[in-house]
Amino acid sequence: MSEAIGQDTVPQDIVEALITVRDRAYAPYSNHPVGALIVSESGTRYAGANVEVAHYKGLCAEASALAAMASAGERELREVYVIGPGEHLCTPCGDCRQRIREFASPQTLIRVVDAQGTLLRRYTMDELLPDSFGPENLGRDSAME
Ligand SMILES: [Zn+2]
Repeated sequence: MSEAIGQDTVPQDIVEALITVRDRAYAPYSNHPVGALIVSESGTRYAGANVEVAHYKGLCAEASALAAMASAGERELREVYVIGPGEHLCTPCGDCRQRIREFASPQTLIRVVDAQGTLLRRYTMDELLPDSFGPENLGRDSAME
């Protein structure tokens, strides 16, 4: 099911992809499975789940999806979707906000849905990480310019 925030909805196929990848998470330590789906500039979708390891330096779902996108040779993203295990907001952690920012524009939308795929909140990149530090601070071209 998808739910609207104003006129915004999450397409059913994206909800299904989010639930599928979230359910593939490897989260035996936190028992907090998370899924992320990124739509790149080309329109391709990249999904990722959190992958934990015994020394606790696991990989977040968003980082996993971003790694898939970058590994495919893409450098710009249009949209990000995140799903957690419950009804509460499962927003990207601080580290993931910075990782998303690397490939985002200020208007890139990040949508967070509940466990069933109902849209809870929608943020722009600027709202999620205001006054951020990015590639252009180091003299590099960025999608944020
Ligand atoms: Zn994270």
